[in-house]
Amino acid sequence: FCGGDAWANAPAPKTVRKPAPLPRPKLVFLDPGHGGRDPGALGLRGTQEKSVVMAIARDLQKELLAGGRYRVLLTRSTDSFVALRERVARAQAAKADLFLSLHADSNDNPDVRGASVYTLSEEATDREAAALAARENRADAMISGMKLADKDDSVARTLVAMSQRGTVNDSRRLADTIVQTFNRNGFRLLPRTHRQAGFAVLTAPDVPAALVELGYLSNPQDEKLLTVRQHQLSLARALRASVDAHFAAGAATRKA
Ligand code: ZN
Repeated sequence: FCGGDAWANAPAPKTVRKPAPLPRPKLVFLDPGHGGRDPGALGLRGTQEKSVVMAIARDLQKELLAGGRYRVLLTRSTDSFVALRERVARAQAAKADLFLSLHADSNDNPDVRGASVYTLSEEATDREAAALAARENRADAMISGMKLADKDDSVARTLVAMSQRGTVNDSRRLADTIVQTFNRNGFRLLPRTHRQAGFAVLTAPDVPAALVELGYLSNPQDEKLLTVRQHQLSLARALRASVDAHFAAGAATRKA
């Protein structure tokens, strides 16, 4: 036993000021669309939407984790079917700070190409957006036999809750940030790119959410690009930059 008493009598060390606690890492929920028996849109060369969006979601997950500022969860991490309501429920249960749904579109006109970004609204801003929401929402109808028009899942009621909590504004800000970042990075976008429609997957009242259609699998150039690793990585980086900008602007607003 050596020196024990000496230690006991030593003056208490000066309190070292604790460093300010690091802000809680934001929880980003990524939602690769479709999966399992639901392949989503199909390309002319057989590309499946569910695989393309999973590859990009995984790239984005790596990008976000690399900075050490986020926690990242996926609504599905395998090629499995997850109902849209279940995706929303998982993000809500985990108290996600942001929900980003990733898709690729398809159109009867093979010339249509480019990305587009959507937020929730009761009324689609145009017929195309309404048709897209109907296509993307079909998965739930398929699995459960439930009609998405069910009044107990009223998008209108969700929108009221969202606007009370500022979620509508945050979602629109997120969508606009993605559009700006895609523009800056030279990605092709549809005209009037931030659109609104009744997507079932965007209905968590507390979680700012946007849905990105990354391109058209019905367009040969877009289909090719969406399967090229370098392009997938570029898209993931642009989305990561968008998430960074979204939270940076949010923090600035709260300080002001
Ligand atoms: Zn889709």
